[in-house]
Amino acid sequence: MVGVKSRVFVITGPSGVGKGTLISRLREQIPELELSVSATTRKPRAGEVDGRDYHFLTPEEFARRAEAGDFLEHATFSGNRYGTLRSEVERTLRSGRSLVLEIEVQGARQVRAVMGDEAVLIFIAPPDPKVLRERLAGRGTDSEEAIARRLETAKQELEAQQEFKHVIVNDDLDRATEELVRIVRSELSTTLDPADDQA
Ligand code: ADP
Ligand code: 5GP
Repeated sequence: MVGVKSRVFVITGPSGVGKGTLISRLREQIPELELSVSATTRKPRAGEVDGRDYHFLTPEEFARRAEAGDFLEHATFSGNRYGTLRSEVERTLRSGRSLVLEIEVQGARQVRAVMGDEAVLIFIAPPDPKVLRERLAGRGTDSEEAIARRLETAKQELEAQQEFKHVIVNDDLDRATEELVRIVRSELSTTLDPADDQA
């Protein structure tokens, strides 16, 4: 059977590039994709809901869960810790569904190391690094200081893009969404093990 294999789609790229926006558009077109809810020590932003946007943990709780091996991957980004809970990934894959992770570059590398071809890595790049400041400021969720830290990190993240199988330039949102949908549909219709096609 073609297209029955569940996949993990890892969407990475610098803060403000449009990962969240593209993922919500992707899920409008492919609603069966689940979104992994990460854990973080960052404070909730206005409107963010615990358990929906993130599992908001204290630094002590995060450290305890990291120590217990509860994370598939975790990283420190801009002074806060972020991690993908194994429980989120295992629950979705057990149910035969595919999953989207929206994570930064260090975490994406860890997922690639652990999952290999089961994970599809997609880097979202800006048409020009300058748009990151405009988009972060335009989003209106981060202080000037937080924006400056995120832009500093973005320099190294942009250098990492050639490590990833797919790179999508988020210039025009409609065009970039189409490209992302095309990649995801194509990966979903491909089996990992050629023997599966005989079934
Ligand atoms: P990320 O999740 O990568 O941090 P967001 O999805 O929050 O980024 O997008 C950051 C801001 O940029 C948001 O205000 C969003 O509406 C805007 N944005 C996203 N994609 C585009 C685009 N192609 N052109 C212009 N603005 C965009
Ligand atoms: P934000 O604070 O803007 O929500 O997220 C900051 C960065 O952390 C973004 O690049 C986001 O993709 C990343 N991030 C969110 N969840 C995770 C996670 O579970 N693991 C890792 N490694 N990064 C994450």
